[in-house]
Amino acid sequence: MIKAGGKMLKKWLKEAKYTVVFTGAGMSTESGLPDFRSSKGLWKQKDPTKLASIEALNNNVEAFIEFYRTRVLGVSEYKPHNGHYILADWEKRNIIRSIITQNVDGFHSDAGSKRVAELHGTLKKLHCQLCGKKYSSQEYINEEYHCECGGILRPSIVLFGEALPQDGFEMAYEEAKKADLFIVLGSSLTVTPANQFPIIAKQNGAKLVIINHDPTDFDRFADLVINDRKIGDVLKELDQQLN
Ligand code: ZN
Repeated sequence: MIKAGGKMLKKWLKEAKYTVVFTGAGMSTESGLPDFRSSKGLWKQKDPTKLASIEALNNNVEAFIEFYRTRVLGVSEYKPHNGHYILADWEKRNIIRSIITQNVDGFHSDAGSKRVAELHGTLKKLHCQLCGKKYSSQEYINEEYHCECGGILRPSIVLFGEALPQDGFEMAYEEAKKADLFIVLGSSLTVTPANQFPIIAKQNGAKLVIINHDPTDFDRFADLVINDRKIGDVLKELDQQLN
């Protein structure tokens, strides 16, 4: 069953003219990166989703910065895994055209992928909340939290209470429309509107493949579903067959 699925996917990857990959938390956890939502206790009973908000940035800035400094430090301890590098290589070889990601760890760019729509932004960058000037998240590691204008530096990610970054969203929309093969890797597709991209691709004629540890509500729209496998292993097998 799984082998047949892999064989079919290899055929589709070879035939497709415009393959787009969509990645979620399952891609990052294979790097060892913990899902911050499940790291309870760390935050003294505080709900991390409350700290990850525009409300906390405005009214509880010390706790906001403490939370995000820890997240920036956390991400800096981990690296892209083999699967990230295979996707970067596939882009160079025109096997895939772009990546749409829900992840904020920046691992796709670190691995060398160029065309990445970061739907929720990136923890690798900061910007000034007041003037918009861009900084590296190294500033947080160095305990620098202010712009030269005096404004607060904040991670360039989407906080609860904010809209998605326009450029990432627009790129994702265009890519999803162009795709003739759309592969979801490690997303349970529960977050709206990110989970609309597989549907947009499907409505525009793409084949939809969902590779996720657990079944998703979108499996009924998919042409192929692979569960219970590590993404890195599936990509490695496909890569060996494509060489
Ligand atoms: Zn500023």
